[in-house]
Amino acid sequence: QTTYYQHLKDEQATCLFGEKLIKLINQIDISHGFVVYLNGDLGAGKTTLSRGMIQGLGHQGNVKSPTYTLVEEYHIANKHIYHFDLYRLNDPEELEFMGIRDYFTTNSICLIEWAEKGEGILNSPDLFINISYDNTARNIELVSNSLLGTEIINQLP
Ligand code: ADP
Ligand code: MG
Repeated sequence: QTTYYQHLKDEQATCLFGEKLIKLINQIDISHGFVVYLNGDLGAGKTTLSRGMIQGLGHQGNVKSPTYTLVEEYHIANKHIYHFDLYRLNDPEELEFMGIRDYFTTNSICLIEWAEKGEGILNSPDLFINISYDNTARNIELVSNSLLGTEIINQLP
C-alpha cells in the first residue's frame, strides 16, 4: 500500500491535479478497468477533481454532478469514464438494476463519490482518494489498493 499527499491551494490546483492524474491512468493498461473511490465531506472537491480528470482526458463540454442521475458517462479517446455520485442511492441493490457490471469493463475508468453507499456491490478500487478541508484550501491523499494503483502513485512527482 503506497500513499501520496499533496496540498491543493485552490480550485484550479484541484483541477490541475486531476488532469495530471488522468494522464497517468491513460498511459497504463486498463484493459480490466480502473476504479477510484473519492472520499471527503460535502464540498471537499470530489466533483471538482472528477471534472479535472474528465476534461484532462479531452472532454470539452461541461461536467455536471451526477447527484440526481447517479452516473454520468463520457466516451473519449477509446476510454469510458463513468462518474458516479451515490449519495442518493437508497439501497446497494439498485446498482444491480442499473447493470453496474457493465460499467466495470475494458478501458473504463470509474470515479465514484460516496462509494460506501454501494458497499458489497461495487468493485474494489485501485485507488482511494481522500480530500479534506485545510481552512480555505484542501489536502488530498491517495492510497493505492492494487498494483495498478501503486503504479500510478509511483509516477506522481
Ligand atoms: P464535492 O463533490 O466533494 O461535494 P465539489 O467539487 O462539488 O465538492 O465542490 C467543491 C467546492 O470547493 C467548490 O466550490 C470548489 O470551488 C471548491 N474547491 C475545490 N477545490 C478547492 C481547493 N483546492 N481549495 C479551495 N476550494 C476548492
Ligand atoms: Mg460531488
